[in-house]
Amino acid sequence: MLAGGYFGRALIVDVTDGTSQSLPLPDEVLRAYVGGAGLGAWLLYGLSPAGADPLGPDAPLAFVFSPLVGTPLTTSAKFAVVAKSPLTGMLTDALASSQFAIAGKLTGHDAIVIRGRSSTLSVLLIDGDSVRLSDAAGLAGLTAADADSKLRDQLGRGWRVAAIGPAGEIGPGGEAGVRYATISHDGRHAGRGGLGAVMGAKNLKAIAVRAATRVATAHPGEVLTFARDLRERSFGPATAKYRELGTLANLLAFNAISTLPTRNFQSATFEGADRLGAEAPGGAHGAGDAEADPPPEIGGMRRVARSSCASCTIGCEHIYRVGRGKKTRVEYENVFALGPMCGVSDPEAVLAASARCDDLGIDTISAGGTIAWAMECAQRGLIDAPWLRFGDSAALLRVLDEIGHRSTPLGSLLSEGSRSASRTVGAGSASFAPHVKGMEMPGYEPRTLHSMALGLAVNARGADHNRSGAYEADLSGDLDRLDGGDAHVAAAIETEDRAAVMDSMILCKFLRGVFTDPFAEWAELLSGVTGWDMTGTELRDTARRIVMAKRVYNIREGWQPGDDWLPDRLLNEPLTLPSGRVATLTADRLRAMIDSYYKMRGLDRQGRPAAGFADDLRLA
Ligand code: SF4
Repeated sequence: MLAGGYFGRALIVDVTDGTSQSLPLPDEVLRAYVGGAGLGAWLLYGLSPAGADPLGPDAPLAFVFSPLVGTPLTTSAKFAVVAKSPLTGMLTDALASSQFAIAGKLTGHDAIVIRGRSSTLSVLLIDGDSVRLSDAAGLAGLTAADADSKLRDQLGRGWRVAAIGPAGEIGPGGEAGVRYATISHDGRHAGRGGLGAVMGAKNLKAIAVRAATRVATAHPGEVLTFARDLRERSFGPATAKYRELGTLANLLAFNAISTLPTRNFQSATFEGADRLGAEAPGGAHGAGDAEADPPPEIGGMRRVARSSCASCTIGCEHIYRVGRGKKTRVEYENVFALGPMCGVSDPEAVLAASARCDDLGIDTISAGGTIAWAMECAQRGLIDAPWLRFGDSAALLRVLDEIGHRSTPLGSLLSEGSRSASRTVGAGSASFAPHVKGMEMPGYEPRTLHSMALGLAVNARGADHNRSGAYEADLSGDLDRLDGGDAHVAAAIETEDRAAVMDSMILCKFLRGVFTDPFAEWAELLSGVTGWDMTGTELRDTARRIVMAKRVYNIREGWQPGDDWLPDRLLNEPLTLPSGRVATLTADRLRAMIDSYYKMRGLDRQGRPAAGFADDLRLA
């Protein structure tokens, strides 16, 4: 009997000719990988030819749903998009939220996998089992939001759309899109790793889905009870920070403890932080009442709305407007990447840059990191762009446009990301290119967060704060964040495992603090939905399997031991903190933590899994 919450099949579509087929998903695979990022890794390994060009027709692009989608559980309306990244050449998975997840799953599939390449710019329409392509010439060059609204006007009720902006589309000369282009739905983005470029390379402007069926859970009463309990917990102190100010609450807190990367990691504090940050009404960690307290003002910006993804009771989206300017969602990562990382302290410019990234359809973190690297190159005279200065708002906006449209040689260079661009420029610029495995660094300073340093170095996706939340251990006060050792390694592994399960069920990570015994509680929840008798111990094995499957995929695609590493700058340039203490992350210390990670993970000294792993992974 099929487990609750699943359809037991994936839809495989070839957009070269519009044909499709159904791929059965065995119960044992669903139980082993759950859904979302985990099931996506399994699908990618099996459906992608080894060594496939991520922007070639053979490379699959998978939209993967999860057993919780469609249940009343708060924050469960999410999907994962999984592919080989054109930025890193390794696996990338990005999560996004909202009605697309529900409509996509209720087409009757646990995943939709797209292969091939359409001869003209097209929209893929999936209505239950019916699959067709339609011409998208009229959508060319539109923002994802405009393409979404135009398509839904044409298609009528019930359709949900995920689309790319102009940066993801194939250019007029046949050139590929920006290697960190995004896929967007309803203002949310599957942001990291260039999934929008993969979709654009298939000549797809959008995918539109419409629900055609229903899915039942195994024990609806248990699921409802769990959902009510989780809803109550989602109103508690563990999520207050997200309700009151959102993740931007991190900015001042990180600046105060010297972990706010500034001017391409040349500093860990930013003199303009006060203009960009604000404290939540109850303080940075939030104890205030989101409804009763006035919304915080940030550098003259007014909060004009709070919003949330579908099926979410937290509502972490804080929409701000500067003057009469455009409304923009404010989050820590986009403000960090386009603000301190580029030395820009003007809140209006940072918001405008963030809105520009959304319109173009590019990842704010990779955009900010790549531009910051280019600003340093310009400062050192390594590239001919004297106008591209740290702190120059107009330069930031100008170069974003050049990247998004690949309209100048500099824009084309930077559209490839900082790793590729630094290889082109040479002259030692690779030593300060802010990436791991080709993916630009998020806003966490590794020299002052040693657990996070390891998490970033070994992550399958590259420099990524969502698949490893190791900074939590650094900030917990239980560890010396400047003195990494085995305790930091164990903490990094624990957060990596928790993320693997949360990203596969899928529940929003902003809920993570409400669970007191996470694996056991998640097992109980999944048992109610699926009917499987799961335990916390089984889910811990599931987490390790998912982490390992991604590593095995990367190894097949050319990963080398040296890819688990950090940029030279972070290992060679100590930081002096306001306290006078010097924050150093030497190559020896990082090496020791990586060796320890490999050992605790059961990997060999080169970071490769032992032969015995293969059976457990069930990778065909
Ligand atoms: S907490 Fe924020 S990101 Fe998470 S589901 Fe809710 S609105 Fe979306």
